[in-house]
Amino acid sequence: MASELKDLSRLAVHTFTNKPWSLAECIEHYQAAGIPAMSVWRNVVWEEEGGVGIDEATRLVAASELDVVAYVRGGFFPAPDQAGRDEAIDLNRLWIEQALALGAEQMVLVTGAVPGLPLEDQRQMVADGTAALLSLCEPEGLKLSIEPLHPMYAAERSCVNTMSQARAICEQLDHPLVGVACDVYHVWWDDRLEQEIALAAQQERLFAFHICDWRSPTRDFLTDRTLMGEGCIDLRQIRGWVEAAGFGGYNEVEIFSEEYWAADQEEYLEKIVRAYLDVS
Ligand code: ZN
Repeated sequence: MASELKDLSRLAVHTFTNKPWSLAECIEHYQAAGIPAMSVWRNVVWEEEGGVGIDEATRLVAASELDVVAYVRGGFFPAPDQAGRDEAIDLNRLWIEQALALGAEQMVLVTGAVPGLPLEDQRQMVADGTAALLSLCEPEGLKLSIEPLHPMYAAERSCVNTMSQARAICEQLDHPLVGVACDVYHVWWDDRLEQEIALAAQQERLFAFHICDWRSPTRDFLTDRTLMGEGCIDLRQIRGWVEAAGFGGYNEVEIFSEEYWAADQEEYLEKIVRAYLDVS
Protein backbone atom coordinates (compact mmCIF):
# COMPACT_ATOMS: atom_id res chain seq x y z
CA MET A 1 0.00 0.00 0.00
CA ALA A 2 1.26 3.42 -0.93
CA SER A 3 1.45 6.05 1.80
CA GLU A 4 -0.93 9.01 1.73
CA LEU A 5 0.72 12.01 0.09
CA LYS A 6 -0.32 14.63 2.61
CA ASP A 7 1.91 17.42 1.42
CA LEU A 8 4.28 18.36 -1.39
CA SER A 9 7.51 17.55 0.43
CA ARG A 10 8.33 14.68 -1.96
CA LEU A 11 7.10 16.29 -5.18
CA ALA A 12 9.46 17.27 -7.96
CA VAL A 13 8.47 18.49 -11.42
CA HIS A 14 10.44 18.05 -14.64
CA THR A 15 10.81 21.38 -16.42
CA PHE A 16 9.79 19.68 -19.68
CA THR A 17 6.36 19.12 -18.13
CA ASN A 18 5.87 22.89 -18.48
CA LYS A 19 7.66 23.12 -21.81
CA PRO A 20 6.34 26.61 -22.66
CA TRP A 21 8.11 28.01 -19.58
CA SER A 22 11.72 29.13 -19.40
CA LEU A 23 13.90 27.92 -16.54
CA ALA A 24 13.28 31.21 -14.68
CA GLU A 25 9.51 30.78 -15.08
CA CYS A 26 9.62 27.16 -13.92
CA ILE A 27 11.56 28.18 -10.82
CA GLU A 28 9.25 31.09 -10.05
CA HIS A 29 6.04 29.08 -10.40
CA TYR A 30 7.28 25.90 -8.71
CA GLN A 31 8.43 27.89 -5.71
CA ALA A 32 5.18 29.84 -5.56
CA ALA A 33 3.28 26.53 -5.59
CA GLY A 34 5.34 25.18 -2.69
CA ILE A 35 7.06 22.53 -4.80
CA PRO A 36 10.48 21.78 -3.28
CA ALA A 37 12.33 20.22 -6.20
CA MET A 38 12.67 19.99 -9.97
CA SER A 39 14.50 18.05 -12.60
CA VAL A 40 16.05 20.35 -15.15
CA TRP A 41 15.92 19.52 -18.84
CA ARG A 42 18.74 20.36 -21.19
CA ASN A 43 16.56 22.50 -23.48
CA VAL A 44 16.16 25.22 -20.84
CA VAL A 45 19.90 25.23 -20.10
CA TRP A 46 22.03 24.44 -23.12
CA GLU A 47 22.23 27.34 -25.58
CA GLU A 48 22.47 24.89 -28.45
CA GLU A 49 18.93 23.76 -27.65
CA GLY A 50 17.52 27.21 -26.93
CA GLY A 51 18.36 27.43 -23.23
CA VAL A 52 19.73 30.39 -21.26
CA GLY A 53 23.26 29.03 -21.12
CA ILE A 54 24.89 27.17 -18.26
CA ASP A 55 26.17 30.27 -16.43
CA GLU A 56 22.76 31.92 -16.26
CA ALA A 57 21.07 28.58 -15.46
CA THR A 58 23.51 27.96 -12.62
CA ARG A 59 22.86 31.45 -11.25
CA LEU A 60 19.07 30.95 -11.41
CA VAL A 61 19.20 27.57 -9.71
CA ALA A 62 21.62 28.73 -7.01
CA ALA A 63 19.39 31.71 -6.21
CA SER A 64 16.34 29.44 -5.92
CA GLU A 65 15.25 27.27 -3.04
CA LEU A 66 14.66 24.26 -5.27
CA ASP A 67 16.55 20.99 -5.10
CA VAL A 68 17.74 19.80 -8.48
CA VAL A 69 16.96 16.09 -8.53
CA ALA A 70 18.26 15.37 -12.00
CA TYR A 71 19.68 16.88 -15.13
CA VAL A 72 17.78 15.38 -18.03
CA ARG A 73 19.14 13.91 -20.15
CA GLY A 74 22.36 12.34 -21.31
CA GLY A 75 22.99 9.01 -22.94
CA PHE A 76 22.33 8.21 -26.64
CA PHE A 77 25.43 6.03 -26.74
CA PRO A 78 24.92 3.52 -29.59
CA ALA A 79 26.41 4.37 -32.97
CA PRO A 80 27.47 2.20 -35.91
CA ASP A 81 31.14 3.13 -35.59
CA GLN A 82 33.69 4.01 -32.93
CA ALA A 83 33.89 7.66 -34.03
CA GLY A 84 30.15 8.04 -33.42
CA ARG A 85 30.39 6.37 -30.03
CA ASP A 86 33.32 8.59 -29.03
CA GLU A 87 31.38 11.65 -30.11
CA ALA A 88 28.46 10.58 -27.91
CA ILE A 89 30.76 10.19 -24.93
CA ASP A 90 32.25 13.66 -25.52
CA LEU A 91 28.77 15.18 -25.57
CA ASN A 92 27.92 13.39 -22.36
CA ARG A 93 31.05 14.82 -20.74
CA LEU A 94 29.75 18.29 -21.53
CA TRP A 95 26.30 17.47 -20.12
CA ILE A 96 27.90 16.06 -16.96
CA GLU A 97 29.76 19.33 -16.48
CA GLN A 98 26.40 21.09 -16.79
CA ALA A 99 24.75 18.69 -14.33
CA LEU A 100 27.56 19.30 -11.84
CA ALA A 101 27.33 23.08 -12.25
CA LEU A 102 23.59 22.92 -11.55
CA GLY A 103 24.19 20.85 -8.42
CA ALA A 104 22.05 17.99 -9.72
CA GLU A 105 22.04 14.80 -7.69
CA GLN A 106 21.91 12.67 -10.82
CA MET A 107 21.87 12.73 -14.59
CA VAL A 108 19.25 10.63 -16.35
CA LEU A 109 20.51 8.50 -19.23
CA VAL A 110 18.19 7.80 -22.13
CA THR A 111 20.27 5.11 -23.71
CA GLY A 112 19.63 5.74 -27.40
CA ALA A 113 19.19 3.22 -30.20
CA VAL A 114 20.17 2.82 -33.84
CA PRO A 115 17.84 0.87 -36.11
CA GLY A 116 19.46 -2.24 -37.51
CA LEU A 117 22.18 -2.79 -34.91
CA PRO A 118 21.62 -5.83 -32.66
CA LEU A 119 20.00 -4.62 -29.44
CA GLU A 120 22.35 -6.71 -27.34
CA ASP A 121 25.38 -5.04 -28.95
CA GLN A 122 23.81 -1.66 -28.36
CA ARG A 123 23.29 -2.40 -24.69
CA GLN A 124 27.00 -3.16 -24.44
CA MET A 125 27.69 0.25 -26.04
CA VAL A 126 25.52 1.78 -23.31
CA ALA A 127 27.53 -0.02 -20.65
CA ASP A 128 30.82 1.08 -22.23
CA GLY A 129 29.65 4.67 -22.66
CA THR A 130 28.41 4.86 -19.08
CA ALA A 131 31.66 3.38 -17.78
CA ALA A 132 33.65 6.01 -19.68
CA LEU A 133 31.86 8.79 -17.76
CA LEU A 134 32.33 7.54 -14.23
CA SER A 135 35.65 9.21 -13.50
CA LEU A 136 33.97 12.57 -14.16
CA CYS A 137 31.10 11.73 -11.80
CA GLU A 138 33.13 10.30 -8.94
CA PRO A 139 34.61 13.47 -7.38
CA GLU A 140 31.16 14.99 -6.71
CA GLY A 141 29.25 11.71 -6.46
CA LEU A 142 26.98 12.52 -9.41
CA LYS A 143 24.72 9.54 -10.03
CA LEU A 144 23.90 8.21 -13.51
CA SER A 145 20.37 6.80 -13.80
CA ILE A 146 19.67 4.51 -16.72
CA GLU A 147 16.02 4.93 -17.67
CA PRO A 148 14.38 2.04 -19.50
CA LEU A 149 12.00 3.31 -22.16
CA HIS A 150 8.86 1.54 -23.35
CA PRO A 151 9.60 -1.14 -26.01
CA MET A 152 7.83 0.98 -28.65
CA TYR A 153 11.04 3.07 -28.62
CA ALA A 154 13.43 0.14 -29.13
CA ALA A 155 14.23 1.04 -32.75
CA GLU A 156 15.31 4.66 -32.52
CA ARG A 157 15.29 5.91 -28.96
CA SER A 158 16.22 3.31 -26.39
CA CYS A 159 17.81 -0.12 -26.60
CA VAL A 160 17.03 -0.56 -22.89
CA ASN A 161 13.34 -1.31 -22.49
CA THR A 162 12.86 -3.05 -19.17
CA MET A 163 13.95 -2.58 -15.60
CA SER A 164 15.77 -5.91 -15.81
CA GLN A 165 17.82 -4.81 -18.85
CA ALA A 166 18.76 -1.59 -17.06
CA ARG A 167 19.64 -3.51 -13.94
CA ALA A 168 21.79 -5.94 -15.95
CA ILE A 169 23.94 -3.00 -17.11
CA CYS A 170 24.18 -1.80 -13.50
CA GLU A 171 25.27 -5.26 -12.41
CA GLN A 172 27.87 -5.43 -15.14
CA LEU A 173 29.36 -2.07 -14.16
CA ASP A 174 28.87 -2.70 -10.44
CA HIS A 175 29.48 0.92 -9.49
CA PRO A 176 27.66 2.79 -6.71
CA LEU A 177 26.96 5.75 -9.00
CA VAL A 178 25.12 3.71 -11.66
CA GLY A 179 21.45 2.94 -11.08
CA VAL A 180 17.98 2.91 -12.60
CA ALA A 181 15.28 5.53 -13.10
CA CYS A 182 11.85 3.90 -12.92
CA ASP A 183 9.31 5.82 -15.03
CA VAL A 184 5.78 4.44 -14.78
CA TYR A 185 4.99 5.48 -18.36
CA HIS A 186 7.62 3.09 -19.66
CA VAL A 187 7.36 0.11 -17.33
CA TRP A 188 3.78 -0.06 -16.00
CA TRP A 189 2.92 -3.04 -18.23
CA ASP A 190 5.81 -5.24 -17.05
CA ASP A 191 4.65 -8.33 -15.17
CA ARG A 192 7.98 -8.39 -13.33
CA LEU A 193 7.82 -4.78 -12.23
CA GLU A 194 7.26 -5.38 -8.54
CA GLN A 195 10.17 -7.82 -8.29
CA GLU A 196 12.42 -5.60 -10.40
CA ILE A 197 11.73 -2.56 -8.23
CA ALA A 198 12.49 -4.60 -5.14
CA LEU A 199 15.70 -6.01 -6.63
CA ALA A 200 16.93 -2.63 -7.84
CA ALA A 201 16.32 -1.14 -4.41
CA GLN A 202 17.95 -4.08 -2.64
CA GLN A 203 21.05 -3.51 -4.77
CA GLU A 204 20.89 0.23 -3.94
CA ARG A 205 20.28 0.96 -7.60
CA LEU A 206 16.81 2.49 -7.55
CA PHE A 207 17.72 6.14 -8.09
CA ALA A 208 14.54 7.79 -9.39
CA PHE A 209 10.78 7.44 -9.68
CA HIS A 210 8.98 9.31 -12.49
CA ILE A 211 5.20 9.63 -12.60
CA CYS A 212 2.52 10.55 -15.14
CA ASP A 213 -0.24 8.48 -16.73
CA TRP A 214 -0.87 6.55 -19.96
CA ARG A 215 -3.76 8.15 -21.83
CA SER A 216 -6.00 5.57 -23.45
CA PRO A 217 -6.43 5.53 -26.34
CA THR A 218 -3.17 7.33 -26.84
CA ARG A 219 -2.98 9.76 -29.78
CA ASP A 220 0.78 10.14 -29.99
CA PHE A 221 3.44 7.83 -28.66
CA LEU A 222 5.75 10.61 -27.54
CA THR A 223 3.73 13.67 -26.60
CA ASP A 224 0.41 12.36 -25.30
CA ARG A 225 1.19 11.39 -21.73
CA THR A 226 -1.37 12.61 -19.28
CA LEU A 227 -1.92 13.75 -15.75
CA MET A 228 -1.89 11.23 -12.93
CA GLY A 229 -5.36 9.70 -12.60
CA GLU A 230 -6.41 10.44 -16.19
CA GLY A 231 -5.02 7.23 -17.66
CA CYS A 232 -4.81 3.50 -17.05
CA ILE A 233 -1.72 3.16 -14.83
CA ASP A 234 -2.29 1.95 -11.28
CA LEU A 235 0.01 4.58 -9.81
CA ARG A 236 -0.74 3.89 -6.18
CA GLN A 237 0.12 0.23 -6.62
CA ILE A 238 3.44 1.04 -8.25
CA ARG A 239 4.26 3.77 -5.72
CA GLY A 240 3.39 1.24 -3.01
CA TRP A 241 6.01 -1.14 -4.46
CA VAL A 242 8.56 1.65 -4.71
CA GLU A 243 7.97 2.69 -1.09
CA ALA A 244 7.92 -0.89 0.17
CA ALA A 245 11.33 -1.32 -1.46
CA GLY A 246 12.61 1.54 0.71
CA PHE A 247 12.87 4.29 -1.91
CA GLY A 248 12.88 7.65 -0.16
CA GLY A 249 13.48 10.02 -3.07
CA TYR A 250 11.17 12.40 -4.89
CA ASN A 251 8.08 11.52 -6.91
CA GLU A 252 9.01 13.31 -10.13
CA VAL A 253 6.18 14.45 -12.37
CA GLU A 254 7.26 14.12 -16.00
CA ILE A 255 4.51 14.69 -18.56
CA PHE A 256 4.94 15.36 -22.29
CA SER A 257 1.59 16.49 -23.59
CA GLU A 258 0.79 18.66 -26.58
CA GLU A 259 -2.65 19.15 -25.04
CA TYR A 260 -1.34 20.43 -21.71
CA TRP A 261 1.50 22.42 -23.30
CA ALA A 262 -1.19 24.34 -25.20
CA ALA A 263 -3.08 25.09 -21.98
CA ASP A 264 -2.54 27.85 -19.41
CA GLN A 265 0.57 26.66 -17.57
CA GLU A 266 -0.36 28.14 -14.20
CA GLU A 267 -3.72 26.38 -14.20
CA TYR A 268 -2.01 23.23 -15.39
CA LEU A 269 0.47 23.39 -12.51
CA GLU A 270 -2.44 23.67 -10.09
CA LYS A 271 -3.94 20.55 -11.68
CA ILE A 272 -0.61 18.75 -11.31
CA VAL A 273 -0.46 19.57 -7.60
CA ARG A 274 -4.07 18.48 -7.06
CA ALA A 275 -3.58 15.25 -9.03
CA TYR A 276 -0.38 14.56 -7.12
CA LEU A 277 -2.12 14.86 -3.75
CA ASP A 278 -5.40 13.17 -4.74
CA VAL A 279 -4.53 10.30 -7.05
CA SER A 280 -0.79 9.70 -7.31
ZN1 ZN B 1 11.21 9.62 -17.10
